[in-house]
Amino acid sequence: MCGIVGYVGSKSADNILLNGLKRLEYRGYDSAGMAIVEDGHISTRRAKGRVTELEQILAEQPLKSTMGIAHTRWATHGKPSVKNAHPHVDASGRLALVHNGIIENHRSIRSLLEGKGIAFQSDTDTESLVQLIGYFYKESGDLTGSLQRALRDVQGTFGIALICADQPGRIIGARRGSPLIVGVGDGEFVIASDGSAIVEHTSQVIFLKDNEMVELSDGRYEISTMDAEPIQAQVDTLELTLEEIEIGSHEHYMHKEIFEQPQSLANCLAGRLDLQAGEVVLGGLSEVQREIANCKRVLLFACGTAWHAGLVGEYLFEELSFTPAEVEYSSELRYRNPIIEEGTIGIVLSQSGETADSLAALREIKRKGATVFGIVNVVGSSIARETDAGVYLHVGPEIGVASTKAFTAQVAVLTMMAIDMGRRRYLSHARAEELLKELHQIPGKVEKVLALEDQIRKITAKYVDRNNWLYLGRGVNYPVALEGALKLKEISYIHAEGMPAAEMKHGPIALIDEDMPVVVVAPKDHTYDKVLSNIEEVHTRQGRIIAIATEGDTRLSELAEEVIYVPQTSPLLSPLVTTIPLQLMAYHAALMRGQNVDKPRNLAKSVTVE
Ligand code: GLU
Repeated sequence: MCGIVGYVGSKSADNILLNGLKRLEYRGYDSAGMAIVEDGHISTRRAKGRVTELEQILAEQPLKSTMGIAHTRWATHGKPSVKNAHPHVDASGRLALVHNGIIENHRSIRSLLEGKGIAFQSDTDTESLVQLIGYFYKESGDLTGSLQRALRDVQGTFGIALICADQPGRIIGARRGSPLIVGVGDGEFVIASDGSAIVEHTSQVIFLKDNEMVELSDGRYEISTMDAEPIQAQVDTLELTLEEIEIGSHEHYMHKEIFEQPQSLANCLAGRLDLQAGEVVLGGLSEVQREIANCKRVLLFACGTAWHAGLVGEYLFEELSFTPAEVEYSSELRYRNPIIEEGTIGIVLSQSGETADSLAALREIKRKGATVFGIVNVVGSSIARETDAGVYLHVGPEIGVASTKAFTAQVAVLTMMAIDMGRRRYLSHARAEELLKELHQIPGKVEKVLALEDQIRKITAKYVDRNNWLYLGRGVNYPVALEGALKLKEISYIHAEGMPAAEMKHGPIALIDEDMPVVVVAPKDHTYDKVLSNIEEVHTRQGRIIAIATEGDTRLSELAEEVIYVPQTSPLLSPLVTTIPLQLMAYHAALMRGQNVDKPRNLAKSVTVE
């Protein structure tokens, strides 16, 4: 969580940093701050709330320098407030630090330093790090050495940028577990948590790796390990355009991203479906053909929305590749003692590729011998780099905190992977060909569902005042029910629960009365008749049924208050179309309730803390 950005060059830093923070704001937004070196001392401005609050303060009290660091926070330690906002300054006032991550042993560092008479100003874990660096620096006068020494002593994760009043024109960055990218411009550098804060300045970047640090000064960069071993870094080209991160004519990024899905899915599928041969072509897996052929078990793991996509994947792998599959929460997987037998392929799903829980689970099961594939959106991200092979989503940056286009692309990639594996086993050419043809048509079908926005908005308006909703589905549409409920919760703060339709009668049915909207995902598939019985059960208890049904279905309208018809597709692919109305319902419910759709409270996009 949180975004950090730093600039050093010949231009005025304040606007570059402020714009960088705006680009990074989706990562955290409970407070923001900036620090620069001017006239031999550190000056900071900090504000509680959004980056615009900081902008107002800067308008009244500008910070003028050609270098500086800035931060937009998602608090882990210490509540959102001005005193807890970054940058944090050490006791001497000579050093300022921005930090993304968690310093786990902050208490012991703090009590050690307090014992030496250092007075802390904030409740954050971050301050313990800057105070520790400052403590060593006071002793030695060696900035880099002090940072290296402090980083050896801290436990936890960090992406940091550090400045010092004694060395204007210099920024030091370092990372362990949190992302950090250096944009290499013409005599200038932008260092940031992700490429969105860099792309308008340069597309030449260095992705720092864990345990690496970078020194930026005098138009030069030096990369080294934290033990001062020099590193020859590779300069990459950022695969991101400015246009992709602009909001365009949409009111919210989430709306933009929902409506991008026909295109984002087309991009995700492009060049990967060989319809003639009935085959899938996944370049990122070409080196691991043997592992795929020998796979005995698929272990998917992820968090949040990506976990829901993983659950769809579980059904797909069993159904299409005849291989035992299960999906795990990354956070649970890593702290259990997962048994990894020979022939296990792990598949980790993460939009950002930086999800800390997933990264840790990935390392754990790799240690135990699993081959791990990544399904990731952000090119060059930590998970993408640490997996043995993988498939990128290719959907462009997802900025809305509630994931939409990444979810559908994750499901599309899992479908392709499952077909690919299936073809090496018992999946017939004819079935694969039929599925691939259907998959190819999905973007057009999604387009048709999006055309229903008006109807979906009107339906949502009728129920938006209800505070509890149920979402039901079966088979591959059970994860869709979970995802629909999560979307509603995340952005409108309405309590919602998703569950397998048949499970309802084992308990939650007690909740149903005439006030309860029950969204039932009921496309035509082999579970349709069973779902119909579940709908009857809700109907009998006067629950308000909103059904997602296949075009041409005539039975549901007799039972349901509302029916949203989606185009017919192969039952296994139906999540790709049935999810869309649920995204739109959540979006409009949040708008009607006056919530900030793109920046829901307490959430942040890229969860880089455990
Ligand atoms: N742990 C730090 C804090 O709470 C940084 C959190 C973040 O990554 O935003 O201030």
